Amino acid sequence: MEKNEIMLQGFEWNLPADGKHWKRLSSRALSLRLAGVTSIWLPPAYKGFKGRDEVGYAVYDPYDLGEFNQCGTVRTKYGTVRQYQHTIRMLHRFGIKALSDMVMNHRVGADEAESVKTHVVSPTNRLEIQPETQDSILYTKFTFPGRNGRYSDFQWDSHCFTAVEYDKNDPDHHLFLIDGKSFSQDVDGELGNYDYLLGCDVDVQQPDVKKELIRLGLFTLRKTGVDGFRLDAVKHISASFMEEWLSALRQQTGQELFSVGEYWSSNLSLLLNYLESVHYSMSLFDVPLHYRFYEASRSDGSFDMGSLLNDTMTKAQPNYAVTFVDNHDTQPGQSLESFVSGWFKAVAYGIILLRGQGIPCVFWGDLYGMPYQQIEPVRHLPFLMHVCRKYAYGQLYDYFDHHSIVGFTRIGDREHRGSGLAFLCSNQEDGKKRMYVGKRHAGKQFIALHGGFPPVRIDNEGYGTFHVSGKNFSLYVPCTNSSRIRAVLHQKIKLLHF
Ligand code: CA
Repeated sequence: MEKNEIMLQGFEWNLPADGKHWKRLSSRALSLRLAGVTSIWLPPAYKGFKGRDEVGYAVYDPYDLGEFNQCGTVRTKYGTVRQYQHTIRMLHRFGIKALSDMVMNHRVGADEAESVKTHVVSPTNRLEIQPETQDSILYTKFTFPGRNGRYSDFQWDSHCFTAVEYDKNDPDHHLFLIDGKSFSQDVDGELGNYDYLLGCDVDVQQPDVKKELIRLGLFTLRKTGVDGFRLDAVKHISASFMEEWLSALRQQTGQELFSVGEYWSSNLSLLLNYLESVHYSMSLFDVPLHYRFYEASRSDGSFDMGSLLNDTMTKAQPNYAVTFVDNHDTQPGQSLESFVSGWFKAVAYGIILLRGQGIPCVFWGDLYGMPYQQIEPVRHLPFLMHVCRKYAYGQLYDYFDHHSIVGFTRIGDREHRGSGLAFLCSNQEDGKKRMYVGKRHAGKQFIALHGGFPPVRIDNEGYGTFHVSGKNFSLYVPCTNSSRIRAVLHQKIKLLHF
């Protein structure tokens, strides 16, 4: 892995359904690379239940990447398979890796109904299963007539699924376990057993389904050239299956296949347990950190900033953490809405981009804004990405030692001339903090790229006293030569208009 990686989540929920997103991404590939992006998590590329309006998570046919007339359209919300392939080639040309968003937990939008025996399950306690069976009509048959067996002739029916949410014969109940099936045991324990999320829940214990999902993974890699995966909804899928799936693909392709799982929980110990149960075969999004940011941003100064990183992946398992501030589910109006607000957004990005712990994932909606909801881009984000690449090197020293004013430093390294930084933020009062930036900077000056304070002289022990104003952050870097600093400040102004 390249040093100081920056991942971009290459979409937000409300992009226009104009079929132009793959083009949008390929035309921005160079500028994204120049902005420091090293990998992009691309939105689900395959045909979903709502056709052109489908964001991608209600997956119908993962072999249809905008190629067949299914769900009322050939192209997807984002474009056609050719445009998708072209975008990935363009990203590769500029040294950016591409991650495919894999949704393996469920299927939605079956072609035909089947008569099946089921058991009614309590939606709020999935361990409460009625012993008697009933005759159900379930939409569980996927024949993919538009694709007609191309790439895979596997057809899905009720033997491929554990449970569904709709029985035409029984509109009063909301969850039906297919007779003879059982939920996977190695899934999240919420609601008794959280195997079931939505639609037709894929039975990954079924041997031919397992084989088909591995075939799908190989197809995806071969057809698109993606370098790895963002794995959707892993807490609803058997952990041992996820590990088996990744290891089969890695073995058969000989590729590293960097993968990051979405285990949506703010409970760190659940994430650590999951990592252990999949034997560290993937990274996980640092959901606890997102919620710490969210709380801090909403608390109007009462949040204990000293505890900001407590119980996060960043602190506990930085090598397996993909850190983020917001995503398509946390943005306003979405299912997990918990949007980090206001001035805190830039602070949160400073923290994920500059500490060198975990891989930071920048959200499309924060970088480019979300016009549909009239939400502006995070103004300082391109600047912070620039600082990440240029200055955020060397050992990290933390100063999360105060209820409102906290910070950290990087002492720089020899490989990156002029590197090193001091970052300070406050959620209440103006203040200052004495922080260590390394003896190699003794006698030098650090200047404020953000915060508007005069330069700080580093003492013989390698310490400087840095300032910050209330509800803001400050960012200092070594001043090796004043014309270089002028160039950096000039660059900052340019980056504010990214
Ligand atoms: Ca499941």
